[in-house]
Amino acid sequence: MRLALYITKNLNIKDYTKPAHIKIAVINKDISNNYPSNFVCILPRTFNPNNKNPSQFQQKYGNQSKQLIEELLKKALQTQEDQDIKKEIYIRLKRLKPKPKNLTKCKTCGKEFNARKYRYGKQTICNDCRAKRYNNKEDEQP
Ligand SMILES: [Zn+2]
Repeated sequence: MRLALYITKNLNIKDYTKPAHIKIAVINKDISNNYPSNFVCILPRTFNPNNKNPSQFQQKYGNQSKQLIEELLKKALQTQEDQDIKKEIYIRLKRLKPKPKNLTKCKTCGKEFNARKYRYGKQTICNDCRAKRYNNKEDEQP
């Protein structure tokens, strides 16, 4: 399976500053070296990890999709000269990376927890310790 990306810029679209004018198709060089006879499908704009409304690409490549998309984009990046296309590839690669979880170490017990953000800062004590603290306070009351 020799997959590659076939990237075209559609300059007929009026507002070509939008990334939508860049079309990225997946091609299979085992089938042919000529586009569009080697066309497989359109490269999905985003990767959908929970498999809701899977793209045609994900239907074909399943669990391998994400890795495959990343590989194809990275490979394409090495051969592309066009700045707009490079920019689009960078955006798509960035989108593939999972968002870092907002994990913080609890000041009291050291456990990592998903901290809530407040307007003036971030939660520093985990929910368990916070609950304990409130319970103790209630105990202290006469
Ligand atoms: Zn804690």
